Formats: sequence, structure tokens, C-alpha cells
Amino acid sequence: MPLHINTPLIESRPLSVTAKRSVWLKLDALQPCGSFKLRGVGYACEIHHQRGATHFVSSSGGNAGLAVAYAGRKLGVPVTVVVPETTTERAKELLGLEGAEVIVHGSSWQEANQLALTLLSPTKAFIHPFDDPLLWTGHATLIDEVAQAGQKPDAVVLSVGGGGLLCGVIEGLMRNGWQDVPVIAAETEGAASFHAATEAGQLVELDRISSIATSLGAKRICEQAYQYSQTHSIQSVVVTDQAALKACKQFLVDHRVLVEPACGAALALAYEPHLLGEYQNVLVVVCGGATATLEQIEQWSSKYDR
Ligand SMILES: *Cc1c(COP(=O)(O)O)cnc(C)c1O
Repeated sequence: MPLHINTPLIESRPLSVTAKRSVWLKLDALQPCGSFKLRGVGYACEIHHQRGATHFVSSSGGNAGLAVAYAGRKLGVPVTVVVPETTTERAKELLGLEGAEVIVHGSSWQEANQLALTLLSPTKAFIHPFDDPLLWTGHATLIDEVAQAGQKPDAVVLSVGGGGLLCGVIEGLMRNGWQDVPVIAAETEGAASFHAATEAGQLVELDRISSIATSLGAKRICEQAYQYSQTHSIQSVVVTDQAALKACKQFLVDHRVLVEPACGAALALAYEPHLLGEYQNVLVVVCGGATATLEQIEQWSSKYDR
């Protein structure tokens, strides 16, 4: 039994009417820990557990850390998550709820990650948030479920942070014989590391992350995501934080599900349908995210209402 669940696949009436085409939603916001991350992280943790790992270590204060904490609790394996001082109270609270040990260290993710790496041993497994083939193989189950439902889309819309979801979705398309299905990769301004790499024609590192969509805040995408940009049809689209926030709020009204701005970036494409091109039957990966409260979303949005 995998740790993730088979999530609902629904045709969204409000989004289909707005976008004047069929918009299907893969509702991974409904995974037990609130995001698609459980697919890959759960799979990686199971493999490490089978190989004898007695402890899982993560350096993500976001949804990847939450997924590791959830997987560890389910497998009976203790989890340590090292997070920087910038991590929100809400995120620490959620990690605590899953029973993980939380160590706060350093002012940036780099510093937290460095400490996390010193905690490793042959039986303590480090679970990377996006750059690991085990993770991609787990994420690919999202497309397996869509294929099992017989709903081949014209295009898949998803958000890109470090590119783990992108690699998993493309692996899933390929293993289901859907390698001809293009991907539309959404990012926010200030976190657009995939866009920067495709523009530069090589992997590049952003100087800093300035978007509120912190779950997209990888300064550099993984090598495999860049490789796929050379071999698979991937269109890069960048939206503003404001558009991502607006999509979060409208999605809450339309589908009664609260998601992070990281997910709002992908949803924004369906709410601004000129960004979807000619595709008539679109699958949007509702990747979810548990770390933003409604209060936080409203606080961020108030900046644009003035
Ligand atoms: C991690 C995450 C992303 C980005 O996934 P990557 O694999 O890093 O590209 C998008 N949305 C949410 C909610 C996430 O947690």
C-alpha cells in the first residue's frame, strides 16, 4: 500500500466556463499532508525503509518536510527536520503535529541544509525535496491515475519549483505512452528558475527568491528538469504573485479548497485562459500546499488592494 492516496480527478465547471474549454483538475491538495509531495517522498521513504534506514532527515520547512514527517510517522521511523529561522510558526506547528523533531538553525535554507547533512549516517536517510529519481518515480503515479481514468489531456499545467513535479509528470506521461502530451510550466516572478534556465539555454542560479510562493523558491532547477526541456514539449509561463493570489482566492470560492500561491501559479493560467493557448482539454495539477493560512493569503493580497 503506498502512503499517498488516489486523488479525485474532476472536470471543473467554473474553470471550464471561465477558460472556454475543458479544464480537468487532479486534486492533490487532498493528499493527507496537503500536497502532491507525498507521492514522491512517500515512495522514497518506503524504499529507504526497506533498505534499512532507521531515521529520515529533511531540511524543508515546507511541504516536502511535511511529507517526510507524515511518511515517517506512518512507517514508524523517527524524522528530524532542520529549518531556518525564517520558517513560519504555522509550518513548525504542522511538523510538530506529525511528530517530527524540528531543529531551527541558521538564517537561510543553505545553513539549515548544511546542518541537516551533518546528521546523516549509513542508516539515516536524507530525503531531498525535488532532486532525486525515487521522488520522480513516485510523483509519476499522478499521471498513472489519470491514464487509468482514460482521460488523456491535450496539455498538462503544473507549477515548477525545483522541478521534481515536472520530472515526475513527464516520467508518468512517458510510462503511459503519452510522451506527445505537452506540459505548461507555471512559475511566479521572483521564483522563475525554470524560465531563467530555458532563456539562458543552460542551468542557471537565481541571485535570490523574491516571490511569496515560497514552495517554488528553488534558486536552481534540477538537471533532469533542464534535460527534459530539451527533449519534451514544455512551455514556460511566468505569472505575478498577484495573479497567483487571486487564483487561490477564486479557487477557494469555486472549489472550497485552500491552496498555497505556489499552486495558485498553475491555477492562474486557467483563470487567465489566454495563457493556455489553443489547448481544448487541459489537465491542471492542483499541487496544493499546507503552509499558507487564509489569514496569510488575505494579508498578502491586501498589499494589492490599496
Ligand atoms: C514543492 C511544491 C511545488 C514545486 O514542486 P517542485 O518539485 O519543487 O518543482 C509546487 N507546489 C507546491 C504546493 C509544493 O509543495
